Amino acid sequence: MDTVAPQVIVLGAGLAGCECAFQLAEQGIAVQLWEMKPLRRTPAQSSDHLAELVCSNSFRSDNPLNAIGLLHEELRLAGSLLLRLADKHRVPAGDALAVDREEFAADVQAHIAQHSKIELISRHASELPLAQGVPVVVATGPLTTAELAEAITAQTGQERLAFYDAIAPIVAADSIDYSQVFAASRWGKGEGADYLNCPMDKPQYMAFVEALLGAETMPLEDFERDAHYFQGCQPIEVIAASGPKSLRFGPMKPTGLDDPRTGRWAYAVVQLRAENRHLTAYNLVGFQTKMRQAEQKRVLSTIAGLGQAEFLRYGSVHRNTFLDSPRLLDEAMALKSQPQLRFAGQITGVEGYVESTASGFWVAQRLAADLCGRTLPLPPPTTSLGALLNHVLGQDLIMDAKVRFQPTNVHFGLFPPLEDLGRKSQKAERKERMLSRARDDLQPWLTGLR
Ligand SMILES: Cc1cc2nc3c(=O)[nH]c(=O)nc-3n(C[C@H](O)[C@H](O)[C@H](O)COP(=O)(O)OP(=O)(O)OC[C@H]3O[C@@H](n4cnc5c(N)ncnc54)[C@H](O)[C@@H]3O)c2cc1C
Repeated sequence: MDTVAPQVIVLGAGLAGCECAFQLAEQGIAVQLWEMKPLRRTPAQSSDHLAELVCSNSFRSDNPLNAIGLLHEELRLAGSLLLRLADKHRVPAGDALAVDREEFAADVQAHIAQHSKIELISRHASELPLAQGVPVVVATGPLTTAELAEAITAQTGQERLAFYDAIAPIVAADSIDYSQVFAASRWGKGEGADYLNCPMDKPQYMAFVEALLGAETMPLEDFERDAHYFQGCQPIEVIAASGPKSLRFGPMKPTGLDDPRTGRWAYAVVQLRAENRHLTAYNLVGFQTKMRQAEQKRVLSTIAGLGQAEFLRYGSVHRNTFLDSPRLLDEAMALKSQPQLRFAGQITGVEGYVESTASGFWVAQRLAADLCGRTLPLPPPTTSLGALLNHVLGQDLIMDAKVRFQPTNVHFGLFPPLEDLGRKSQKAERKERMLSRARDDLQPWLTGLR
């Protein structure tokens, strides 16, 4: 493009940044897109392309009966560039949308480089370019460079930008066996019984620790082996390895939890805490883990009440730079304390290629609307896009001072429950109804896009 003053600066030409820049440009907005490649790479990158898929080449299931497949469908309908190019460069992978990563990235790069409204600049952002007086979208991803992270914390406060996630597994509420668990808060504190407690006697606890220690875990990335890795977010298997009773003095502490069936404390307890206001999902408190997903299912299903648990999300611990978005951002993903600054992609607390693309898409649409003086509400929370953004904003969460926001993939546990289906409704029926509701609710929102 001819060099004209930009109306928006986007930092980072990954999945979110490319989608965001393209959507803005398509609406006639002049964008400067800063990308540090080829001058510099993050430790996960191995090519100089934009929109690099750093690990798997899969956008996961393309079946709309999964929340991620539904997100694909919604992005296609809404006009996402990256979904269109993913479809174009699709390779066979069963019901998954997998792509030829080289062709995909080269095509994204071509669309960005050739767009008359986008000026692509190879530049490392060591500071936030706020002095130019135009909106700045930060889309620098999970491995945002240290210099920029420092500039961001100067805006947000040190404690509001995390460098590791600590994700506990989440199970569907209607898959818990309530006859084996009891509701109680420690020492009876809080309003009512805030937790479901899965009790263990000593032999069960010892067998559980043994199973944990024998479980296969995901390897650490080289760049994850630094000294701060496990501070405050140790995986359960690491705690277990530090001594047979460590978990019992940590996340499985039984003290103050009277089991009404015995009138006593159990030997150890796994606590489940409601994940959302609708009480459709529960997380296993303090159970972040690097166990492989199949191992999580095998080992955690031995916990009382979780024998038939449906895992909506598996646990993990990664190097991941992300904001405390529910406390910092407004609906436009702008910093409440500095609205010139907006955030898109994984740095907002979404997780994965498609979710990051979706985030970039929303930020562009909303920013374009704001610049043109149009109003654009969030997508309905009953859609995949809306449910994901709702989570980033903490609108589905029970936020109190203790809650540490954690990133998420999209899953049906983020959606509001169906109104007229009982707890024990069949999973397949529930998904069909969620899909049909999402499709109905998305249509009117799409008409307001441009
Ligand atoms: C090791 C690893 C493996 C992963 N595996 C998967 C997977 O298999 N499947 C999946 O769905 N997701 C995976 N993810 C997550 C996935 O990478 C992200 O969800 C997605 O890439 C995030 O998109 P983004 O646009 O927010 O950030 P990115 O795609 O990371 O893009 C950020 C861009 O910003 C640039 N940048 C960073 N700092 C600066 C700066 N200061 N100045 C200028 N440019 C900068 C980077 O070079 C990059 O191009 C993985 C992540 C990691 C770290």
